[in-house]
This record gives sequence, C-alpha cells and structure tokens, in this order.
Amino acid sequence: MTTPALVDLRSDTVTRPTAAMRAAMAEAVVGDDVYGEDPTVNALEERVAALLGHEAGLFVPSGSLGNQLGLRLHAAPGQEIVCDQLAHIARAELGAAAAFSGITFRTWPAERGLLDVDAVAGLIAPDAGPYLVSTTAIAVENTHNFGGGTVQPAAAVAAVARLARDHGLGLHLDGARLWNAHVATGTPLAELAAPFDTVSVCLSKGLGAPVGSVLVASAERIAAARVWRKRYGAGMRQAGILAAAGHHALDHHVERLADDHARAARLGAALGVDAATVETNIVVLRVPDAAAVAQTAAAAGVLVSALGPRLLRLVTHLDVDDAGVERAVEVLAPLAAGS
Ligand SMILES: *Cc1c(COP(=O)(O)O)cnc(C)c1O
Repeated sequence: MTTPALVDLRSDTVTRPTAAMRAAMAEAVVGDDVYGEDPTVNALEERVAALLGHEAGLFVPSGSLGNQLGLRLHAAPGQEIVCDQLAHIARAELGAAAAFSGITFRTWPAERGLLDVDAVAGLIAPDAGPYLVSTTAIAVENTHNFGGGTVQPAAAVAAVARLARDHGLGLHLDGARLWNAHVATGTPLAELAAPFDTVSVCLSKGLGAPVGSVLVASAERIAAARVWRKRYGAGMRQAGILAAAGHHALDHHVERLADDHARAARLGAALGVDAATVETNIVVLRVPDAAAVAQTAAAAGVLVSALGPRLLRLVTHLDVDDAGVERAVEVLAPLAAGS
C-alpha cells in the first residue's frame, strides 16, 4: 500500500464531483440521446455552442473524441493536419488520427506551445499534388497543456486564422482548457472560439465534471460528427446524468478557475519558476531528475507528473486548496532546490 495522496497535482482531471454536482446529476431529466431525446444533453449542447458562438454542439465522453471527430471533418485518409510538436493531438491521443482516420501530422517546434505564424506558414502544403502530402487543416491548442498552460496570444491566433483562410485550410481548436484562457484573459469564450471551424472543450478538467467534452461547429459539421460518434461506439443513451454535471460545472466552476490560477502562481513563485511562464493552472518545473523528485514527493503525499526526464508538471484544480498548495511547497521546495 502506498501512502494516501494528500495533494494530487498530477492533473486537473483527478477532481471528484462535489456533493452539489452529484445532486444535480441525480435529479437530471433524461431520455435516449441516440434518439436525440435527452433534454439535458440537448440543452448542454446548445448552451456550449451558444457560449462559444458556434451553431451546434455534440456531447462526447472525452476530449480525445471531441478532437478526433473534429479532425476527421477536416481531412480524408492520406491527407495531413499540421500542429505543434507538443500538441495533445500529436502526443497524447495514441495515434488516433492515424489509426481511425488515416490522417498524418506534421509539426512545428513551439516554445512553451506558443503559436508562431511563420513556422506554420513554412509547414503547410495545401493542394500539394501527386507527390507531397496535402495539408487540409491547422490545429491549435489553447491553453497549451504540455507547453505549461500557456494562453495563445490573440494576435498570433488571428494571424494563423488568416493564413488558414488564405489557403483554404480548416482550423481546429483543441480547447480542452479554453475556460482557463477565458478566465486568465477576460476575453469572451465566443471571441476565443470565433476564428475556428471546429472547437473541442472539456468539462472534466478544471470544471470538475466526472466525464464529458463538447465539440462545437456548424450545424452541418455537427450532424456529420454525430454519425461518426455513433460509428465509433460513443452514442450514449441516458447521458443527461453526465450532462447535468456539465451544466452544474458551467453554473458554478468557471469563474473559480481564477483561484486555481492564483494557486499555481503561488506554487511557481515558491519553487523559483519564472512567473511569466505560469499563466493559468499549470506549473512546469525543471529539475535534474524528474522521476526521482516525483517519487520522493509521492512518498510524502504530494503527487506530480514527470513530463520528461527533467520536467515536472504541477496542475492546480478544484480539489487543491491553499493548505494543499502550502503542503506541496513544503515537500517540493527542498527537492527542487536540492536536486
Ligand atoms: C486532457 C486533454 C484533452 C482530452 O483528454 P481526454 O482525457 O481524452 O478527455 C485534449 N487536449 C488537451 C490539451 C488536454 O489537456
């Protein structure tokens, strides 16, 4: 048996639904969503689409599926989508775009995951003809997970959107943590989502729902994605139980992300991390031996992720309070300094 975890900073996916959220789930009005008859799911899809300024939404079990449905709307087998080297779709979805949709990626190097329009422009090959793989879309991640919770600057997003439009390319946003970008910048969600054709957002990260993501796009694209969702075996029946958690999260857990951001800033400052790199709820900490630090911290009840041989990721969320942050500092500061 391991020591019970006191502070779990591995990811913001580890949150457990609050009592109030569970009550909302228990009371959800439900129907068969494959028949389109679950009022709670339908309302959530409409609500998220409206929030993000798109025509329609599709409730899916995971952010990976939201991304994968979005990507396959943009490319046919044998075509490519470009994204950055650290993108979740390229690194953390187990090759799904290749395995299911026959899509390949080419990637641009990105410091902290930040968009660089020149790098994107240098990579794309629209209508490449019979020799090179044709690029059909550009994918962007905001906030950027492996980049350290980075918010994409609006000017860079606008420049990439212009590039996509000029070359007739689709534009997908992996907005798993778009809520965090919204709270960190005060920019309306619809403004953050406007440049994109397809946007996937997660309810199960900082928002604290147990399950669920929503893909938004035009009504036509969502109708096609709905068919593919069922084909993938992800058509859910009385999913209103889960969608109710999403409604509760949107009602109560969006603005409080500011608390997570403040706690991440406190963690970063106490551990000597450059404050400019802690923009939202993720802290990336450089240490000589990430696995060793993670293991020692775990033994003291503080869980962190080793992102690479010398990189640790610390993520604040609904289930980490101020006392948890201070406990993490107490355990990690000597390890970070001494290692
Ligand atoms: C978590 C995450 C996802 C989706 O993850 P699931 O575990 O499939 O829900 C997608 N993109 C980013 C950037 C993420 O951090």
